[in-house]
Amino acid sequence: MSNTDFVLAVEDLTVSFDGFKAIDSLNLYVDQGELRVIIGPNGAGKTTLLDLICGRTAASAGSIKFKNDEMTKLPEYKRVRQGIGRKFQTPSIYENLSVFQNLEVSFPRGRGVFGALAFKCDQEVKDQVQKVATEIGLADSLDLEAGLLSHGQKQWLEIGMLLMQDPELLMLDEPIAGMSAREREVTADLLKRICKNRSMIVIEHDMAFVAQIADKVTVMHQGKILAEGSMDKVQNDPKVIDVYLGH
Ligand code: ADP
Repeated sequence: MSNTDFVLAVEDLTVSFDGFKAIDSLNLYVDQGELRVIIGPNGAGKTTLLDLICGRTAASAGSIKFKNDEMTKLPEYKRVRQGIGRKFQTPSIYENLSVFQNLEVSFPRGRGVFGALAFKCDQEVKDQVQKVATEIGLADSLDLEAGLLSHGQKQWLEIGMLLMQDPELLMLDEPIAGMSAREREVTADLLKRICKNRSMIVIEHDMAFVAQIADKVTVMHQGKILAEGSMDKVQNDPKVIDVYLGH
């Protein structure tokens, strides 16, 4: 398989903090349309890996290619423009704005060169808000103040804010933390739907949820990949049972 088949190709990626290798010569390849879940014990390097891919942390060595373009030295905002979207565990929505306004302000107007261009695009923004609100199940709540949404709805809104930027790769950190069983079900459906025309990397601890959503699972340990493959394959891997699932 050539690199062009991958939306993301990470090779020999390493980052050291004061001599400690938090990510150690790691290789990761994500296919177009794939939903990859990363699991591993605390301190394995999962968050650091996503920080490196989105440009929040600079790599010490190795390369990150997105759609076959070299990203390793690009600043975070340029990676966002190229189509990499990241959501953190804590929702960072604007509680005092409506659902509509939260989505509207997330539209990447900055791409236009002239202010007038942004003005002309108003209908385009509204159409995109409507499309995204429908996708995240909040089309009937557009006028509602975001602070009044349930915990789950806030998480979906934040995913919607990422979708407003039309990313090709979304990275989510524990998207179901604090959610009810019903909200987890809705989130599983939402993530699978999003991946019909996008790729996704999710960090998750809840194994039942991982089994429900993952196309492929990567198990990390001490900054390296310990195992990779289907949920069935990794959960029966003795190395994985030893360091993670067996705990
Ligand atoms: P995980 O997300 O799997 O729990 P992290 O990526 O947060 O793991 O952390 C991996 C290791 O790197 C941990 O030992 C952590 O203490 C260390 N680490 C992460 N970021 C930094 C940093 N900015 N400075 C120093 N050490 C860090």
